[in-house]
Amino acid sequence: MKFLNAEPFRIKVIEPIKKSTRPEREEWIKKADFNVFRLEAEQVYIDMITDSGTSAMSSNQWAGVMKGDESYAGSKSFYNLRNSVQDIMGFPYMQPTHQGRAADFIMSQLYAKKGGYILGNLHFDSFKGHAEIAGSIPVDLIIEEGRTANSNPHPFKGNMDIKKLQNFIKQHGSENIPLIIITITSNGNGGQPVSINNIRMVSVIAKANKIPLMIDAARFAENCYFIKMREEGYEDKTIKEIALELFSYADGCVMSSKKDGLVNIGGFICTRHEELFPAINQLAIINEGFVTYGGMSGRDLEALAIGLYEGVEEDYLEYRINQVAYLGEQLAKKGVPIILPTGGHGVYVDAQKFYPNIPQSEFPGQAMVVELFKTGGVRGVELGSCAFSKKNPETGKIIFPDLELVRLTVSRRVYTNRHMDVVVNALADVFERRNEMKGLKLIYEGPIISLRHFTAKFEPIS
Ligand SMILES: *Cc1c(COP(=O)(O)O)cnc(C)c1O
Repeated sequence: MKFLNAEPFRIKVIEPIKKSTRPEREEWIKKADFNVFRLEAEQVYIDMITDSGTSAMSSNQWAGVMKGDESYAGSKSFYNLRNSVQDIMGFPYMQPTHQGRAADFIMSQLYAKKGGYILGNLHFDSFKGHAEIAGSIPVDLIIEEGRTANSNPHPFKGNMDIKKLQNFIKQHGSENIPLIIITITSNGNGGQPVSINNIRMVSVIAKANKIPLMIDAARFAENCYFIKMREEGYEDKTIKEIALELFSYADGCVMSSKKDGLVNIGGFICTRHEELFPAINQLAIINEGFVTYGGMSGRDLEALAIGLYEGVEEDYLEYRINQVAYLGEQLAKKGVPIILPTGGHGVYVDAQKFYPNIPQSEFPGQAMVVELFKTGGVRGVELGSCAFSKKNPETGKIIFPDLELVRLTVSRRVYTNRHMDVVVNALADVFERRNEMKGLKLIYEGPIISLRHFTAKFEPIS
């Protein structure tokens, strides 16, 4: 075992990526108004903008694509997917959707009610938006250790704060809380895991108060691997055993297949409750498509049915989590300030510590993303003063977020550790030149501030 620590796959098909020169990249980023979302993907050497829908599929999945049954009603690929979900997650009822956010929408229609509080560890944007439209108030109750950029060593920074949960229910009454959602891993703070013990405790409280508990399962396999590595009593269990136990505590789940499903599109919603399934089916019919395809093609259903099994393979998860940890360790060795421990799907750099001289009004995170692209052709993403600022509705004054981060997300089965070395060396070079660096000026934003990062335009401050 000791020697067998490289990637648990070999490469059968390759996709060429282009190397470029610094002058070329300087021109491209200028044309893109200093916003990496405006670049053409071909101009990027190593793309770390997201881990969503960017996975490489296996030879078995591609074989499944050929076998995909494109029947409108009763597709064999639907039954194959349902079997995988029942086997791995244990939920009897599964409705496919075109993406995770469509499953979020159905969940909001089932549970969100006007004026109700929906409690979570850290809610993900797509559910939050749907819940708010339905008139609910999403509340984040993550533990304190999960809130700060502080590199404290807590092994499960995605955990829900049990005391806060109990107090909230006592204070507001369980009748005003239509739903609890636990997101695994916690995407909002860097893919930090939730312990199975925490999920069990939340479940006990939810049951005692007759509040349904749903899991946002986008990265459930990565979460289960962390449980196996870090939680007492789980070291000898298989990932599948852990997943089955974990989901047994919940009433259902929503899934974005674009993450741990190891496919490029798709999602689903599951429930244990037969009586809820007709409403789920009908919401799918009007928004997604007929019950047995839900906005997905038969080939995509088939690839997902296979991908779910590959996603819970331990050799794969060991490679996956260790690649992210490797990136973090190498960056930390070079002195780059990152959030520790690293989570499941990427490394988060503390841009405020990186550029203490650039104020948030001059977008230090965005400045780092731009300079990293110029230096190494690497595309990261800012999660700071551009993405997360708010406006005071009365004064119009900008309220900056507490954290100024840059996320380097690692796609699944796509890059080797040699690519990670390029990222490390490029960012270390940017870090060495940090004192010369200036910020950026925002010259255009769309009408909705919470979405402005996707289309914003910048100019360098000289
Ligand atoms: C990506 C994601 C979603 C939304 O899924 P899409 O497939 O992108 O629509 C929901 N929840 C979490 C935690 C996610 O990471």
